[in-house]
Amino acid sequence: MNDFSSKLIKWYLANKRDLPWRNTTNPYHIWVSEIMLQQTQAATVIPYYLRFIETLPSIEDLAKVDLDLLYKLWEGLGYYSRARNLKNAAMTIMEKHQGVLPNTYDDLIKLKGIGRYTAGAILSLAFHLPYSATDGNVIRTLSRYYGIKEDTRLEKTKTIIDGLNQKNISIIDPHNYTQAMIEMGATLCTKSKPKCEICPINEHCYAYLNNKQSELPFTSKLKQKKEIQWITVILRNEAGDYLLQKQETNLLNGLYLYPQFEAESINYVEDIFNELGATLFINEDIGSYTHVFSHLKWDMRVYHATTSSNLDYTVVKPSNFDLYPMATAHKQIKKD
Ligand code: SF4
Repeated sequence: MNDFSSKLIKWYLANKRDLPWRNTTNPYHIWVSEIMLQQTQAATVIPYYLRFIETLPSIEDLAKVDLDLLYKLWEGLGYYSRARNLKNAAMTIMEKHQGVLPNTYDDLIKLKGIGRYTAGAILSLAFHLPYSATDGNVIRTLSRYYGIKEDTRLEKTKTIIDGLNQKNISIIDPHNYTQAMIEMGATLCTKSKPKCEICPINEHCYAYLNNKQSELPFTSKLKQKKEIQWITVILRNEAGDYLLQKQETNLLNGLYLYPQFEAESINYVEDIFNELGATLFINEDIGSYTHVFSHLKWDMRVYHATTSSNLDYTVVKPSNFDLYPMATAHKQIKKD
C-alpha cells in the first residue's frame, strides 16, 4: 500500500459517515446505491435506497417489477433512465447470469446503465477487487492533489486521472480505498471551501501548497442549454386531472405529464383543442415555471382550465394521484 492510500484509508476508517449501503455486503444493494448516488447527494438517496431495497429485495424482484411501481419508487430522484436501465440489467442478469450480479469488468460493462465508473465501484466495493472508480469527486481530489491543469471535461484528461487512481488503489484494501476517495470528495475536498487544514494528504497536495484550490479542477464552459417554451395546462373536470403518459422518448419516458404544447400563447393551444372538436375553458393564468434538465431548460407558462369534452388523456382522481408517477417538472406546478 503506498503512502497516499494508507493515509487516506486510515482517515476514512476514523471519520466515515454511517450510510446504509456501507452496512451491507450484498452486491445488488451496493449496485442500486451506486446508481442512485449518480447525480444525487447521499442524504437525499438514503430514504429512496431503503424503500427500494425493502420493496425489491432481490435482482429477481427488480427484473419482474412493473414500470409504474419502479417509477413510483424513483419519483423525485430524476434521471428516470437510471431506473429503466436497472430493470433492464436485472432482466439480463436473470437471463444470462442465473440471477447473480457478475464479478468481472467485462460482464458488468455489458449491462445497461453500467459504465466504467459503476463497474469499478461495484468491483471494488462489493467484490474487493482493485478496479478504479473515477467520478467527479475523484477527478476533483486528484486533479488538485497532482496539480493537473488540463480540461477535465476532455476524455483524455479523465483517462489520465483514472490511471492515477488505478495506480493508487490499494491491492490490499480496494473496498476502503474507493470508499475513502468518495468520502474525501464529499466531505473534505469539496467544490468550494475544501477543508485542507484537516486533510490527511495535504502534505504533498499541489493545490494546497500553491493555494490553487479554487482554480482546480479546470473545467471548460458548457454550451448553453437548449430552452423550450411550453404552454402547460392543468386541465381538470369533476372526474379528475387530465394526464398524458410520455411514450418512447429518452426524456421522461413512462412518466405522466399535464397537457403541454410548444408555444408562446394560450390562444394557440385553444386553437389546437378547437381543431380536436374540444373546448378549453381557461380559468386562471397561474404564472411561469422553469425546470432545468442536464441539457435542456423548460420555460412553462401554466394555466388552470376545464373542459367538458372527451379527450384522449388519462383522467386521474386526486385520491389516485399516488398511483401515477409524475414528471418532477409537473409535480412542482401541481403543488402550487
Ligand atoms: S489538501 Fe485540500 S485540495 Fe488537497 S486534496 Fe486535501 S482537501 Fe483537496
